[in-house]
Amino acid sequence: MKTIFKCGKCRHMLFTEREVCDGHGLSYENGIEESLSCKPLSNVYYMKEDSFLPWIREQINGGDWMKGKLHCPVCKTRLGSYNFVKGAKCLCGRHVLPSLHLTSAKIDRHEIQYSGSRLNFG
Ligand SMILES: [Zn+2]
Ligand SMILES: [Zn+2]
Repeated sequence: MKTIFKCGKCRHMLFTEREVCDGHGLSYENGIEESLSCKPLSNVYYMKEDSFLPWIREQINGGDWMKGKLHCPVCKTRLGSYNFVKGAKCLCGRHVLPSLHLTSAKIDRHEIQYSGSRLNFG
């Protein structure tokens, strides 16, 4: 089983659980619900900073790379935002939250059967 995340509006596949982390930058793949001591992932998905996908990098590079909004590459719905200038602290106060997050209400989460080494992000 894999978890994939799609644009809630146009169903374009945006990312997988591999790119998501919790507020402490911990991987989503190994049971994120348990690692969420501070900030629940119920309203946002944090993205790992070392593995931004091409469509995300493109928007960061094409806009103001320090701070800005992220949109679906297909239908342009606003999905989230990033801020590399000033990191917000998580609830425990020990960690700076990841700089880029997407609003979960804008994104559909799907569990899929998946075998293969790479997903195509078109
Ligand atoms: Zn879309
Ligand atoms: Zn914390």
